Amino acid sequence: MILHMSSLFLRTLREDPVDADVPSHRLLVRAGFVRRTSPGIYAWLPLGLRVLRNVERIVREEMDRIGAQELIFPALLPREPYEQTGRWSEYGDNVFRLKDRKGADYLLGPTHEEMFTLAVKDMFSSYKDLPLALYQIQTKYRDEVRPRAGVLRGREFVMKDSYSFNVDAAGLDAAYQAHRDAYVRIFDRLGFDYVIVQATSGAMGGSRSEEFLATAENGEDTYVRTVDGSYAANVEAVTVPQAPPVDYADIPAAHVEDTPDTPTIETLVSVANVRHPRADGRQWTAADTLKNVIVMLALPDGTREPLAIGLPGDRDVDLKRLEAQVAPAAVEAFEEKDFAAYPRLVKGYIGPGGLGEQGTSAIRYLLDPRVAVGSAWVTGANEPGRHVFDLVYGRDFEADGTIQAAEIRDGDDAPDGSGPLVAARGIEMGHIFQLGTKYAEALDLKVLDQHGKLVTVTMGSYGVGVSRAVGCVAEGNHDDAGLIWPRELSPVDVHIVATGKDEAVHAKAEQIASALDAQGISSIVDDRWQASPGVKFKDAELIGVPTIVVVGKGLAAGVIEIKDRRSGERREVPVDQIVTAVVAEVRSV
Ligand code: ATP
Ligand code: MG
Repeated sequence: MILHMSSLFLRTLREDPVDADVPSHRLLVRAGFVRRTSPGIYAWLPLGLRVLRNVERIVREEMDRIGAQELIFPALLPREPYEQTGRWSEYGDNVFRLKDRKGADYLLGPTHEEMFTLAVKDMFSSYKDLPLALYQIQTKYRDEVRPRAGVLRGREFVMKDSYSFNVDAAGLDAAYQAHRDAYVRIFDRLGFDYVIVQATSGAMGGSRSEEFLATAENGEDTYVRTVDGSYAANVEAVTVPQAPPVDYADIPAAHVEDTPDTPTIETLVSVANVRHPRADGRQWTAADTLKNVIVMLALPDGTREPLAIGLPGDRDVDLKRLEAQVAPAAVEAFEEKDFAAYPRLVKGYIGPGGLGEQGTSAIRYLLDPRVAVGSAWVTGANEPGRHVFDLVYGRDFEADGTIQAAEIRDGDDAPDGSGPLVAARGIEMGHIFQLGTKYAEALDLKVLDQHGKLVTVTMGSYGVGVSRAVGCVAEGNHDDAGLIWPRELSPVDVHIVATGKDEAVHAKAEQIASALDAQGISSIVDDRWQASPGVKFKDAELIGVPTIVVVGKGLAAGVIEIKDRRSGERREVPVDQIVTAVVAEVRSV
């Protein structure tokens, strides 16, 4: 395969696109790999498509290796199955919906659990048909709130999704492990640094779940880990243990005090220290206060329901953690009009006492697990300018349960006791999870077991962001001059630059390309007559093929230059050895 710059469907850009916020986006557009057609939707131009196909090939090889079978479903899907699992409404505005000419509802598939489940239900009926693993590499649609960073978060993107079907939990564990091993091989081959973190399964439901995150400073996902790496989890998945009960025998009865103008924790702490100093001489701190945060949950059925969260005053609610806990409900702000509808709530002075009794509609109250039974707090008295002191959980107030919604901070203990946590950022590249019987139950996928009894099939679901991987590899492999592709992903193996207007130079460049092609090595030949050597070198650096061969002035003296795009190293090779040298280099790594 030989591409010629003179005819290649490519225009490189010297300027950064105005909407590009991360290097991979800037460079993929400038080097002519992708082209935006509308927000979050990209066309793949010849060079970009070759990289995308390389990612697909790696993914395909590793999926085939674990015995998963490839097939392909449509992207345009009927509403009914998604209605049956509840996801037609759960997905909310994230789904592209449309109607056909008869008025029937359709959606553009954001993920395909329903379709795979139904196909297996139609075709298979016995335990003898299982285990089964199916996959597709297919275009997905999600109307993301914030498409960003080019192909990293698109509204149309390519995903590899696979689904496993087993009769029992042991089978599911084995299928999950096989996928996990395949993912390790895929991400090793894609060549970026990644971590495997514990995850929540979001709208999918299910039990065991892990994400593969490419480590990237500007990644959208925050995860935490211990220094030795023995614990790593998506922030949403960190489970803070319940603090054990403490003895409150010496705590005096709760008492309400005047704390004028203290609607914030900061003002409360300073007023409390002046007007109501502690008996033991220690200063009050934010950690002694119980902050009550009220939000409004918007449920998929369109109803709204308030939720109060009680947490130590030195911590904030982490919106992403909260959203993961209440999904599929969405979290909205509790607005002035909501306060008007709940007159017992006094903004800035909300306390547990005011939450249960709201006429007919009580507000659900969930506590951070750090709040121990028997612990005493300073908290709102549900009156303007007043707080209650020595309010003991389990003695003076109750809650409806706990919630994992408080922020996780550097230095917090890992839940498994393996040490203090540190936060880092990454890009989610893959997600594997055990669905269990959620979809099989909703869609009635059962098979006959050995004893002729119907059992519900247990499933797993596994995704890789194929188009995102192109952005992610670019994000991790570039310099100021442009992209630097790892060998397995590079659009071609070699970039041959012919400089000047000497016929012999151009003829030699073509000859090298043909000789390489004969050995299965692909190339770009920069055969443009008009372009200066400077322009050609700049383009070669921007495009980022790892091996650059320069045929130019040296040819008269019998040498050709090989440049390594990654190290910047150059060396001259005698003309008669150039093909052998390039082949060796391409096949090395
Ligand atoms: P995210 O949290 O990044 O929105 P997700 O958890 O919704 O992703 P999954 O449903 O787990 O994504 O999809 C499987 C994989 O598909 C993800 O791990 C990611 O690599 C990729 N992916 C998801 N959304 C997008 C998108 N909008 N653009 C490109 N790739 C995506
Ligand atoms: Mg995910």
